[in-house]
Amino acid sequence: MPRPILATIHAAALQHNLARNRQAAPDARVWAVVKANAYGHGIERVFEGLRSADGFALLDLEEAQRVRELGWRGPILLLEGVFEPRDLEWCSRLDLWHTVHCDDQIDMLAACKTHVGHRVFLKMNSGMNRLGFTPARYRSAWARLNALPQVDEISLMTHFSDADGGQGIAAQMACFAEVTRDLPGERSLSNSAASLRHADSVSACDWIRPGISLYGSSPDHPEHLAAEWGLQPAMTLAAKIIAVQDIAAGASVGYGSKFVAEAPLRLGVVACGYADGYPRVCPTGTPVLVAGVRSRLVGRVSMDMVTVDLTPVPEADMGTEVTLWGRAANGVVLGIDEVAQAAGTLGYELMCALAQRVPVQVAG
Ligand SMILES: *Cc1c(COP(=O)(O)O)cnc(C)c1O
Repeated sequence: MPRPILATIHAAALQHNLARNRQAAPDARVWAVVKANAYGHGIERVFEGLRSADGFALLDLEEAQRVRELGWRGPILLLEGVFEPRDLEWCSRLDLWHTVHCDDQIDMLAACKTHVGHRVFLKMNSGMNRLGFTPARYRSAWARLNALPQVDEISLMTHFSDADGGQGIAAQMACFAEVTRDLPGERSLSNSAASLRHADSVSACDWIRPGISLYGSSPDHPEHLAAEWGLQPAMTLAAKIIAVQDIAAGASVGYGSKFVAEAPLRLGVVACGYADGYPRVCPTGTPVLVAGVRSRLVGRVSMDMVTVDLTPVPEADMGTEVTLWGRAANGVVLGIDEVAQAAGTLGYELMCALAQRVPVQVAG
């Protein structure tokens, strides 16, 4: 028997979360962001659930090729554009739209002998200071691209730095609107946080680019829980109890003996550890579901196991299912964001870090 740990990808949840994003921007088309192997879910595994998207956005040519191999004929956007001239040939071959964020990429296009016109998304750095042309240089970049015979169509895009926080998107929106006011072309502005939190401001754009919300994690946890945004978990990580320990008051658990029981305690040893992608830094008290009932982690996370408190579930025993995040068999949900918060990080990082050794199934 394989080690009793399993990740489940919920196709119906992906579909639901996509619909939730459409609801936020009913007139916009949706790039389903599937970079990083669909945020750790697996591009092939999420494809069915997300196939009603208008396009797929990602970073790697290899991932773009996989989307084409699944039979997708619609738009695919490279969010960081090309990295070297040869990539442009792949863009033509695979019919990829690509971001242009710097002069080097325009140089590559200008030097490229291509028979098919390229469809590009010209990126403005409106304050994130990561990728894109500054507002002062944006229009000249547009003019340069527009003069190239290699370029068919130019769309306009930017990315928000604070859509999930108090600063919001107003300043970047204003900057983008001002600089692009009379430029033709489709507009693509918002990630999940902007689409959900600032639906009124961004609903007029042509393309939204949700990632994390498709996977059922809240873009602004803990201000809003995923459920408050109407999102459903797209990934469940569950494992079984492989040993039970009854320990006496004063006994400790796990490496470093960090946790000491104040009273007699029944513990379940669960077949999931940091080598499966469960964060080692999760402290005692991190929530888990034992047979769908909330309980807590105790002691240190080790490579292949964690220990959980069985007090709330006296009937738990060998083989009882423990949900590390996602939906338990009884329907109870433990948000990946809650576990991420206990680990001092975001749901993004946990889902992306699901380890290769964890078997994965796709469910409806
Ligand atoms: C990753 C990414 C997104 C998606 O962001 P989420 O916060 O996951 O919704 C959108 N746009 C760009 C440019 C990205 O790199």
